[in-house]
Amino acid sequence: MRYISTRGKAPDLGFDDVLLGGLARDGGLYVPATWPRFTDDEMRAMVGLSYHGLATRIMQRFTNEALGLDELTSIVAQTYAKFGHPAVAPLKQLEGGIWLMELFHGPTLAFKDYAMQILGRLFDQVLKTRGQRATIVGATSGDTGSAAIEACRGREAIDIFILFPKGRVSPVQQRQMTTVDAGNVHAIALDGTFDDCQDMVKALFNDLAFRDRHQLSAVNSINWARLLPQIVYYFWAGLALGAPDRQVAFTVPSGNFGNVFSAYAAEALGLPIAKLVVATNENDILARFFNTGRMEIRDVKPTLSPSMDIQVSSNFERLLFDLHDRDGEATARVLKNFRQSGNFTLFEDKMDRTAKIFEATEVDDLATVKRIAAEYEASGEILDPHSAVGVEASVRARLSGRLGDDVPLVSIATAHPAKFPDAVERATGVRPALPPRLADLMRRKERMSVLANDYATVARFISERTCTNEDAA
Ligand SMILES: *Cc1c(COP(=O)(O)O)cnc(C)c1O
Repeated sequence: MRYISTRGKAPDLGFDDVLLGGLARDGGLYVPATWPRFTDDEMRAMVGLSYHGLATRIMQRFTNEALGLDELTSIVAQTYAKFGHPAVAPLKQLEGGIWLMELFHGPTLAFKDYAMQILGRLFDQVLKTRGQRATIVGATSGDTGSAAIEACRGREAIDIFILFPKGRVSPVQQRQMTTVDAGNVHAIALDGTFDDCQDMVKALFNDLAFRDRHQLSAVNSINWARLLPQIVYYFWAGLALGAPDRQVAFTVPSGNFGNVFSAYAAEALGLPIAKLVVATNENDILARFFNTGRMEIRDVKPTLSPSMDIQVSSNFERLLFDLHDRDGEATARVLKNFRQSGNFTLFEDKMDRTAKIFEATEVDDLATVKRIAAEYEASGEILDPHSAVGVEASVRARLSGRLGDDVPLVSIATAHPAKFPDAVERATGVRPALPPRLADLMRRKERMSVLANDYATVARFISERTCTNEDAA
């Protein structure tokens, strides 16, 4: 499988280069050159596979030139063996024809573990094969940083530096980053905001000499290898509920459009998906877009579901590319216009195409809290605020009657309630407990470095703690 850039001007690459490179050199994102479709018979043969067996079967089509089947099989099996539930991604039935797929059984209790845990191992494997090292640098407002640290801890070929805004992440999220005891992990509390952290990371990447010397890599969801493992759980749920002989629908609580793009990819691979419901909080740029055809940036508002407090969804570019019949120049034109004016509008023919598969709903904080309370009362199920945004959107989609009664609707639970205990306690009166393996998290010893928001300080800190490719050679 080769990968092409959404802006049409970067060289096409194999899986290993896409993995290590992240962003394409023309500023675009890499996507598979074609969507390899599974036949109905091939999908029927997947029914009954274990989660890791299914993951290998699906991912193999995308990694086959870069990675042997044995290597992939072993990476995938090791990854999901460590998850906290034997089903890995268990399905539960709620009332009203809605199912909940729990994607919070990984080490840091959010769905990002399902891909990040694979990514860390893939990085290590590919780097070792090439005799190289890499330095992963990232900014986080919470979930991504802890998932990345947990995925890279102790890996021989990687050093990882995660910047978070000092005093501005939740206590659970901070401790998940600062209590990891591994020499290659560096949690940096930057004296600044999340935007300052992001600007700092951008500045490090734009310093080309620094970037090359330390072989900087990114693990945010612009990396195709973050999206690939997420395709698997859509097949997992779909096959469990009757696909390929029955259609299924999904609701995905969305921010950067990474998770729901993986669902779109599953459809492109042949999974019969009747509808994808994009659920947003009050930062509703995606909901407004799907309902009007106009993408327009507004200010970011803090909400109870902070991992979805995003205005510009970086992965949307991948959908835009398909909607423009994979014409990179046309995609680049729309995005350039968007950067300059803060908005763009798609023509009706393109919106008709998106409406065949996508619909979108905005759920505000009040409706989120009410949904957590209602679900607790109805079934005893405790939802985190992100998952509750999804379930509320699912209930509304069911009530609209647009979805056939015979189509199961699977709502994605993206985080464990104990990750956001304050909102959950407010809605239910119950403070959710961390799972046993994390029960002592708040008592573990913290290790972090507090750094000034100053480029030279941060660059020096990283240089002193990494060994460059020249040193290694
Ligand atoms: C990252 C995240 C999301 C949003 O997912 P995207 O792929 O960015 O759309 C939703 N919920 C939780 C808990 C998250 O950590």
